[in-house]
Amino acid sequence: MGSQDIQYVFGPVPSRRLGRSLGVDLVPFKTCSHDCVYCQLGRTTRRTIERSEYAPTETVIEQLRAALSGEDRPDSVTLAGSGEPTLHIRLGEVIGAIKSMTDVPVTILTNGSLLDEAEARKACALADRVVPSLDAGSEAAFQRVNRPAEGLTLARHVEGLEAFRREFRGQLWLEIMLVADANDSDDEIDAMRRLAERIGPDRIQLNTVIRPPADAEARAVDPERMAEISKRFGARAEVIADYQAKHFTATTRRRREEVLAALQRRPCTLSDVAAGLGIHRNEAIKFVTQLLKDGLIVRVRRGEQEYYQSPEHDGGDGAQGG
Ligand code: SF4
Repeated sequence: MGSQDIQYVFGPVPSRRLGRSLGVDLVPFKTCSHDCVYCQLGRTTRRTIERSEYAPTETVIEQLRAALSGEDRPDSVTLAGSGEPTLHIRLGEVIGAIKSMTDVPVTILTNGSLLDEAEARKACALADRVVPSLDAGSEAAFQRVNRPAEGLTLARHVEGLEAFRREFRGQLWLEIMLVADANDSDDEIDAMRRLAERIGPDRIQLNTVIRPPADAEARAVDPERMAEISKRFGARAEVIADYQAKHFTATTRRRREEVLAALQRRPCTLSDVAAGLGIHRNEAIKFVTQLLKDGLIVRVRRGEQEYYQSPEHDGGDGAQGG
């Protein structure tokens, strides 16, 4: 497959926070500096902190131009995708190109691990909204939850976020992903709150394991505890509510029906769903998560693989996510 055939731009897909989000995927699948236990994409296959041109920048820009020239105006152009977007060394050029094409806000969803590098900060500062992660208040929890690449420490992570806050004029939304019994103890929360105060984000968004995680042990924190934790973080904090169905357009509704119909025919992995419908894997994840939540499909593990299927299919021990 040539780089022209690879889909670097996908959607718009419905996003809980961003509305209709046009996704831009700048790194190959699961190329990331972290290997989070809660990752919806599965285990990291290439764990690295090396910045490089992971996607052909000119092709990405061409695909963006095509996507943004239609009438389907998204609410956000979002750099996220299959791994850590700040690993792409020409990130700043991609954002500059988007800015020359549209006034739709640019958002970066990042784990924040490279923000201790001046060049990565400079590129991210071109965006309108940057959403980095902080999932730990102690080094032990950082290693346990994020399983970072060698050399990355919580101290380095927080220093990068603080430096970025000093330089960035846009919206900084700190995302904290809470995993039951891994980083949700009172001590851990208090330590994270102190770190968040140092960083000074505009918003603190508390999330938990809603989508099928990389590590089957990673479990969601219940809603009551999430609300209690949110209070501890103060007025800037919110629990990210579930994506509201009102954002679904006729196209996304139809796509969801297609995913459901495919899974009613036979059990599929996420890659099967994406390939079968010609959609990006991240898009497939969104629909599969919704269907799991609505109880219309179940998740079944067979050997190393996870399949999604209708509850009526025989065999397997249906484990429903979300
Ligand atoms: S959740 Fe994000 S940062 Fe963590 S492993 Fe997955 S892609 Fe990387």
